[in-house]
Amino acid sequence: MPITPAAYIDSHSADLISRLKKLVGTSTVNPPGENYTAITSYLVDELNAVGLKARRLTIPTAQLKKVLPPEQHAYPRYNVLGKLAARGAKKTIHFNAHYDVVPVSGKWKHGSPFSATVDGDWIYGRGTADMKGSIASLLLALQALKATKTTPKMNVEVSFTADEETDSLLGAGWLVENAPIKPDYAIVMEGAELDQICCGHNGVVWLEVTVHGQAAHGSTPAHGINALEKMSALVIALADHKKTLARRVFKAPDGTIMRPTINVGGMFSSGEGGKINTVPALAQFTLDRRVLAVETVAKVESELRRFLATAAKKIPQCKISITKISDNHPCFNPPTHPFFTAMAETLKRVRKKSSTYQVSSGFNDMHFFSHQLKIPTLGYGPGGDDIHAIDERARIKELLRSAKIYADLLTTFAG
Ligand SMILES: [Zn+2]
Repeated sequence: MPITPAAYIDSHSADLISRLKKLVGTSTVNPPGENYTAITSYLVDELNAVGLKARRLTIPTAQLKKVLPPEQHAYPRYNVLGKLAARGAKKTIHFNAHYDVVPVSGKWKHGSPFSATVDGDWIYGRGTADMKGSIASLLLALQALKATKTTPKMNVEVSFTADEETDSLLGAGWLVENAPIKPDYAIVMEGAELDQICCGHNGVVWLEVTVHGQAAHGSTPAHGINALEKMSALVIALADHKKTLARRVFKAPDGTIMRPTINVGGMFSSGEGGKINTVPALAQFTLDRRVLAVETVAKVESELRRFLATAAKKIPQCKISITKISDNHPCFNPPTHPFFTAMAETLKRVRKKSSTYQVSSGFNDMHFFSHQLKIPTLGYGPGGDDIHAIDERARIKELLRSAKIYADLLTTFAG
């Protein structure tokens, strides 16, 4: 009897581990975006080796300089794209993962965070869980299909993209606007794991609010307008808006109740000349408004701006200006679509358990495919523990399971 892709995956865990060691060992800490040249050239080679036609897409320098701060201009940006045309397939599925990782700190159990040390069923290292493990799982799935001469039921596109840990502008954001891709479905290989499937995520609007006062000598405060005091009144007024938001409810398919949130943050800044004996002429703070999967960033931003303008008007001599720092679209894919049913069936076959559909409170790159390309998009990957923290790790059993899940979906769902 010919060997199945799942059996092949079980007997080739060493390939998955050696790839993950290579990926983690090539530290791609972002910012600033280290070793992107090395990792993308390795990823192109690996995709070619498992039967895809892969190449590296280089972000033009002019575009890079427009997006990145000057201290990062010497760090090139690339995205990797691989394609596999499956005989007889009508639809195309796109797999995406980001290859950058967050910076490291602290003392790790197994020495260097870039050593990818195996300890029992776990492999430790920065990026093992977020999300180089997903890349290793997918590569083994594709290798298994090739080795067992199993034709996928859909054409396959694979992208490994940059900069998800900052803003994805030159990563998945660049890819969906500039790369020659035409997917009907997308899987972003993070956002949910184990027996959960991610069908959407919250978005975010980040604003900076500046309160303009008037400087005066500290001995005669009545001659000035104290921007700090005006800002404090404005921040207190925001409590009303938070109350309104608390009444706005979205029930995710798994039953979780989600509400929009606001975090007041940033550093208080008093501008030039801010001293103990001076009335501060300027005060600044930031707002992090999480956008529900079913809200839109445009509406949320104008609602917030309107609230702030009205609240400022009620505070005597409170003059403000608002700048947008950035935003990220939310997304929601009703899991009634056959793509989701197929993924749930795949999970049931591989994991022998029913799955649930969840909406992630943090954001990932799903919205570029779901919101921008308007195609059914789900999130699923091997995940792990202590993501973005000391001793980040992934479970080898789950890495192999994800490989089997990707292989199973590719051989059962035709679109
Ligand atoms: Zn990630």
